[in-house]
Amino acid sequence: MADLSDYRQVLTPNYDVPPTIIVKGQGCKLYGQNGESYLDLAGGIAVSALGHCHPDVIKILTEQANKVWHLSNVLANEPAIHLAKALVNATFADRVFFCNSGAEANEAAIKAARKAANELFGNEKYEIICFDESFHGRTIATITAGGQPKYREGFGPMPEGFTHIPINRGDILERTVSEKTCAIIVEPIQGEGGVRPICPKFFEKIRKHCDRVSGALIVDEVQTGMGRTGKLFAYQHSGVTPDILSSAKSLGCGFPIGAMLCKEWISEHFVPGTHGSTYGGNPLGTAVAGKVLETINQPELLNNVLCRGEQLMQGLNELNKKYKLFKTVRGKGLLIGAVLQENYAGRSSELTTLTMQEGLMTLVAGPDVHRFAPPLIISASEIDDALTMLNRAYSHFKKQP
Ligand SMILES: *Cc1c(COP(=O)(O)O)cnc(C)c1O
Repeated sequence: MADLSDYRQVLTPNYDVPPTIIVKGQGCKLYGQNGESYLDLAGGIAVSALGHCHPDVIKILTEQANKVWHLSNVLANEPAIHLAKALVNATFADRVFFCNSGAEANEAAIKAARKAANELFGNEKYEIICFDESFHGRTIATITAGGQPKYREGFGPMPEGFTHIPINRGDILERTVSEKTCAIIVEPIQGEGGVRPICPKFFEKIRKHCDRVSGALIVDEVQTGMGRTGKLFAYQHSGVTPDILSSAKSLGCGFPIGAMLCKEWISEHFVPGTHGSTYGGNPLGTAVAGKVLETINQPELLNNVLCRGEQLMQGLNELNKKYKLFKTVRGKGLLIGAVLQENYAGRSSELTTLTMQEGLMTLVAGPDVHRFAPPLIISASEIDDALTMLNRAYSHFKKQP
């Protein structure tokens, strides 16, 4: 049996050592090495949208595993074509590029926007406008786009042409966007940055300024997409249409897959030789994601996201009347963040430790936010159970550390 001292020895030390080893998942439950069980409101960081070991997903995965796993991009496969068609039918997009993660989807988005701008307007139009506190992945280009300087420290030099501004500041946006701007990249709700929703009016302004300078609007829906907010993609709550959208996380419900969706005016510059991925669009991943999309994009499931989200948010607000830990509870659907009061700032990880002791998996979103991103199939009684455990966990939070 592997244990955590092995973990400490042989894995690179870039993550905190987890408190336990999980050996099995079923629905919204996880089970540890010693038989202990947890209710999962972390969902593998907004990934396990259909919970663990969903029977339909297991079925399609094993069926495809018995046919063909991998072909590379020199050959075509049916599941990739089906999935691309389904994504195009369900969204603004004309075409889809497949890859293996959120960061790769954003890399593809940035490269596609740059290529289109370069060919349409010349090599001066390369600037990507990004937002403070945003998160777009951990590759060099995506930490450059991200708005959290700590992720860039020690990894320089960074690529050029990325400008950061605060969200929800129309005046700054207006004077920053120029003819040099090739794209604006934005999360509808900043996930890692603290479950911080963008103001709808500001989202419309971003679209308007992209149009003003013929720039591309890249919407990063790696965390907010695939039903997380109660629509298939969060941009669909608004009247704003992206030019490019990145998806990953819940797209594969745990099978690594990413996708970059885009309009024709972008994709027509992605000609043979311009971009690629060996694994991207492999039949195993696309078969799984095809079933995931079909299962999530149903009115009953999306309605469950909204109802359970409201239930959880209401319950958190009730608990907060009792414990007064948070200054606000925000988010949409089943992406919810409880923001610690100023006097408890920096202590969000104590909350995840406390909930785990009660048998509940939760997340942080930065040092000040207690985050919840459960499977979208979670039931009303499971949310009630979670709130009971949260009540106990919050009661143990030491107001004077
Ligand atoms: C998680 C995340 C990413 C990065 O996805 P990876 O699969 O870890 O590369 C990018 N953007 C957003 C908004 C995310 O939440």
